[in-house]
Amino acid sequence: MEIQTRLIEQGLGTGDPQSLITRLITRFAPAPTGYLHLGHVLNAIYVWDIARASGPGARVLLRIEDHDRARSRPEFEAALLEDLAWLRFAADGELTRQSERGALYERALDELRARGLTYGCECSRTEIGSGWYPGTCRDKRLRESAGLGIRLRLEPGVERFDDLRLGRQEQQPSEQCGDLLIRDRHGNWTYQFAVVVDDWLQHVNLVVRGEDLLDSTGRQIQLARLIGRERPPAFLHHELLMKNATQKLSKSDGETGVRDLRAKGWSSEAVIDRATSLAGLSRGRITKFLSSHH
Ligand SMILES: [Zn+2]
Repeated sequence: MEIQTRLIEQGLGTGDPQSLITRLITRFAPAPTGYLHLGHVLNAIYVWDIARASGPGARVLLRIEDHDRARSRPEFEAALLEDLAWLRFAADGELTRQSERGALYERALDELRARGLTYGCECSRTEIGSGWYPGTCRDKRLRESAGLGIRLRLEPGVERFDDLRLGRQEQQPSEQCGDLLIRDRHGNWTYQFAVVVDDWLQHVNLVVRGEDLLDSTGRQIQLARLIGRERPPAFLHHELLMKNATQKLSKSDGETGVRDLRAKGWSSEAVIDRATSLAGLSRGRITKFLSSHH
């Protein structure tokens, strides 16, 4: 089914400014832990083109996801903004930074804690790895304190959602990841938590991201409900850049950094065309892709 039909079904983006249906609010949210690369560019093309195709009133927010204080750098943020401007992707309104929103995350955590949904976790990453958390500290009743992580109890259950591109999805977050880490032992808010709180407070109703992140969507939806969001956002997971039919393109393949391509004299149009063609979207820009599915 067409992406735009699905947008309309989910109450987003009618293209009619008189409509009472919710206006589309989406976001572009890079982490300032490196330079802008072609994967970001493909994501930006989708984000802005869907917003443009959804009619007047649609908004694209720019959020700097610098929740990881150890890896985020102001010089990367400055470079990301400069490259985005060069590519002519202009956001609506002021940009936000996760590093400045700690009080909001704290408040969301307070709500969860008051309902008895959180607990302290003393496990280190090396002890448990980054996959499924077996609930080691669930019943230890550790007092939350510096040096302890904070986890959210996820009860067993199935999350169902309709991805705008991939269709019906079913996931079981508690089986996939176990109780979610909200804040790590060093006091850093986790990506999952910060993003879900931000999307809620900023009224983001469409999240556009790569299909490599599809597995974590069910837990984001579950988390959104737990923090009090009645209607979680819609999701669109787009294809990834491919080196060939089976291999994902990575930074080590070279010629993926926007800075490098600029330095070699590429135009912004050429960079955008490169991102679309590496995604296998042979018709060029995604606007064409969208309208061809209309
Ligand atoms: Zn633990």
